Amino acid sequence: MTATLAIGTYTEIDETALGADLDALRAATLDEALALPEAERAAITAIAYKGHAAFGGDQMDAFPALGLIANFGVGYDAIDVDAAAAREIAVTNTPDVLNDDVADLAVAMLLIQGRRMLQGDAHVRSGAWADGEDFPLNRKMSGSRVGILGLGRIGRDIADRLAAFRMELHYWSRSPKDTPEGWTYHDDPIALAEAVDILVVSLVGGPETEKMVSAEMIRALGRDGVVINISRGSTVDERALLDALEAGELAGAGLDVFEDEPAADPRFARLDNVVLQPHQGSGTHATRAAMGQLQRDNIAAFHDARELLTRVN
Ligand code: NAP
Repeated sequence: MTATLAIGTYTEIDETALGADLDALRAATLDEALALPEAERAAITAIAYKGHAAFGGDQMDAFPALGLIANFGVGYDAIDVDAAAAREIAVTNTPDVLNDDVADLAVAMLLIQGRRMLQGDAHVRSGAWADGEDFPLNRKMSGSRVGILGLGRIGRDIADRLAAFRMELHYWSRSPKDTPEGWTYHDDPIALAEAVDILVVSLVGGPETEKMVSAEMIRALGRDGVVINISRGSTVDERALLDALEAGELAGAGLDVFEDEPAADPRFARLDNVVLQPHQGSGTHATRAAMGQLQRDNIAAFHDARELLTRVN
């Protein structure tokens, strides 16, 4: 019986490779995997996981021989890593290969929101421009004061891009990082928000960072403030964000992630000062292929008893 189970919806390239390289059993969802016959579950030693459904200790116990959960994605907040460790199950993720794409999307949302490019596009398409209607002036982006909340791998790649836009860079992390001269470290997230106009959230998800972008932080950003979030919807107090955007107490937002996905709060769709994306930060052909490859490489290493490439526990 096969030792690998792949859970989730994969691209054709990944589907083919999961079959050819790993002879993987398939399940579209975690629930479907849990419904597999007991004998099949008992033979599984490695799971390729792609999904956001909570994968906790109870689910792990349904696979008594499990030794590896290889996550598709760098964010592994859906997997209870402590529960995995307690069962001597290794967890891997897919870091670095997606940094460029997520950073590109963050910068794009920042520019599109600030320069009101969605409205500019509509202005051309609707014929308003042809009819002689002026398009309103908007916000200068280069030179802005920007704060990175979480200067990890992706946060750093975003900061490097924004440095090329001659932005004044500030950041918060749990400790100061080795950065180019002139970047300012803040040991308090609220102080970071007070020092900048644009806040880019690049934290991990999970309980430790839940609603870290709080009502207080949004107030500290002020009326000219903009929140860009490519991390997880859980890192932002979404109700406080919506209240501030609706009241004009915050200038705008660019969001790739939401508290409820894919059913983003309909209040967002009624706002014209936001740019909304369907959690597509890493969603390019090249990067998704690289993520799939890294996920499978971890599984192959596990089956060959070699060192795992990108272990998180
Ligand atoms: P990373 O290098 O691990 O950076 C994570 C950041 O979160 C770091 O700045 C880290 O702080 C901070 N952090 C970690 N644990 C924390 C805690 N307990 N309390 C407060 N801060 C904490 O991860 P990454 O590769 O940059 O990825 C960041 C996140 O982006 C992922 O976890 C994922 O959720 C999200 N993501 C989204 C997309 C998308 O499609 N939108 C795609 C990929 C990733 P330190 O700097 O102090 O270490």
